[in-house]
Amino acid sequence: MQRSELVADIAVRRGFYWPSFEIYGGVGGFYDYGPLGTLTRRNIVEKWRRTFILPYQDIMIEIETPVIMPEAVFEASGHLEHFTDYVVTCQKCGRKFRTDHLIEDVLSQKGIRLSLEGLSGEQLDEIIARYDIRCPACGGPLGKSERFNLLFKTNIGPYANEYGYLRPETAQGMFVAFPRLADYMGRKVPFGVAQIGRVGRNEISPRQGLIRLREFSQMEIELFFDPQNPHCPYFAEVEDMEVPIVPEEEVARGNTEPQFLTAREIVARGHANEWMAFFMALSAKFLKELGVPLERQKFLGKLPQERAHYSAKSYDQMVLTERFGWVEVSGHAYRTDYDLSRHSKYSGHEMYLERRLKEAREIEEVRVYPNPNALRERYGDRIGEVIKAIQKNSQTIAASFSSGAERVEVEGYEITRDMVFLKREVRRTDVEKFIPHVVEPSFGLDRILYVVLESAAVVEDDRKYLRLPPDIAPITACILPIVKRRDYVAIGVDLARRLWRAGITALYDDEGTIGSRYAECDEIGTPIAVTIDEMTPKDNTVTIRDRDSRRQIRIDIGKVVDFAVGIKAGGSFDEISRRLGGVVFKNA
Ligand code: AMP
Repeated sequence: MQRSELVADIAVRRGFYWPSFEIYGGVGGFYDYGPLGTLTRRNIVEKWRRTFILPYQDIMIEIETPVIMPEAVFEASGHLEHFTDYVVTCQKCGRKFRTDHLIEDVLSQKGIRLSLEGLSGEQLDEIIARYDIRCPACGGPLGKSERFNLLFKTNIGPYANEYGYLRPETAQGMFVAFPRLADYMGRKVPFGVAQIGRVGRNEISPRQGLIRLREFSQMEIELFFDPQNPHCPYFAEVEDMEVPIVPEEEVARGNTEPQFLTAREIVARGHANEWMAFFMALSAKFLKELGVPLERQKFLGKLPQERAHYSAKSYDQMVLTERFGWVEVSGHAYRTDYDLSRHSKYSGHEMYLERRLKEAREIEEVRVYPNPNALRERYGDRIGEVIKAIQKNSQTIAASFSSGAERVEVEGYEITRDMVFLKREVRRTDVEKFIPHVVEPSFGLDRILYVVLESAAVVEDDRKYLRLPPDIAPITACILPIVKRRDYVAIGVDLARRLWRAGITALYDDEGTIGSRYAECDEIGTPIAVTIDEMTPKDNTVTIRDRDSRRQIRIDIGKVVDFAVGIKAGGSFDEISRRLGGVVFKNA
């Protein structure tokens, strides 16, 4: 049995995850998380927060924004135009395929590997013709590749022309709320805004279980900084950490083998700025602590044509899996000022901060003054509101008219050139405006869950189980009376309740042989099993069994909650046992 087969079996049978809507035949790309999957995901999220957010609370904040957003947001963000994949349709049976995946699948069976990322529809069609690729279902000829937008579209409210879209990334929520977030942070950078939440992408051909879904969860940070000062105040913490990286230049040469560089070397060699290197080092550590050694990780540089439309530099954090080969678990993008500039332009709200100048200087400004006569003629009694709108949007108006526009719309009012006076004025200032730049690490929670389970799977001759990190395991302790005797049961149930009330997840089970119950606990990765046996009613002791070594110690029942808390916090079995006065009872 392979490790991935063990995961597939445990996932459904023990309640980690399964395909959604099964009773209606299922729909590709949607999965339910069962009780154990939900708990495990929550533990991964908490670990992510402990890694990226909680230690840096002076600069990192978390928010939650809607999953449905109006069309204007995605017009500005570029997703309406660029968030597309190519789809190809069989001329005979009408089936549709994502062009690059179809080519990859067919060519990989012939042992041919081509890099298809960033190719145009014509280039993909040319490959289809060259290798005579046909419909894998019916053998029919394929048509021309067409662009397919991955945004899920819906209506907001009862009006047919008010479109809304399910967000394809949490990021836009942070960009759109930037003015309020900047105020909250005292209009000083650097600061990071994190969001954990659901997103939707209408993938053409979802596949590979949790790896390519149509609805999934992201954990993202938008880190805003002054492009003149890309210094990360916490860089010293990570500078000696090793990161397996394949820089862009190496990728361009066809090399995909990682070099192990420290975060400091990555910056010194110009492969990334301090913020990107900081997040890459923390991400490598995060995955390592989730059970993926550095040797099975790499940060793969993306070539310009492979990057998302908003990115000036990108690395994908890849993990080597048994089942799917290299899988991207997080994307690291240098989004520059792309998003804030676009939202400024499209919304008319300026998204800037100010930096102090070394020396005060004089600047020439175009000031806007309302022309009451012209305004009254057009707007009559509403002139007061219009003047307010003009004053609030004076920058936009000045910029538009200075660049030759005849009219401009602000807050629903049309302002023509004759309605305002423009005056050039000189003033002294010791600040200047700038639009912050953004570095974004973006993690896919569902892929990470899969990677964590596959990495934890142990297939041995005499047992198969999940060696999950104790802070990630869905259940921390199993409570098992050695036999189902009334007094043992009462003690066991009471102990389980005490653990629950201390915030520890515990499973109580008194059915079946003790050996099979240990195996069931191990199978779902439970780090400790507590057994109530013949000694318990006599001297108030229980045994605690370590999942990995199968060693057992005997300890006072009153210490079990502390023991479980210590295990959940990542302490070692032997060290906690020593501290709490456990006595070795049985070596495996
Ligand atoms: P991206 O914005 O495409 O860089 O995606 C960020 C992260 O989201 C990726 O690194 C993946 O972990 C995850 N992700 C992207 N697309 C999917 C998908 N269709 N299903 C599951 N996870 C995904």
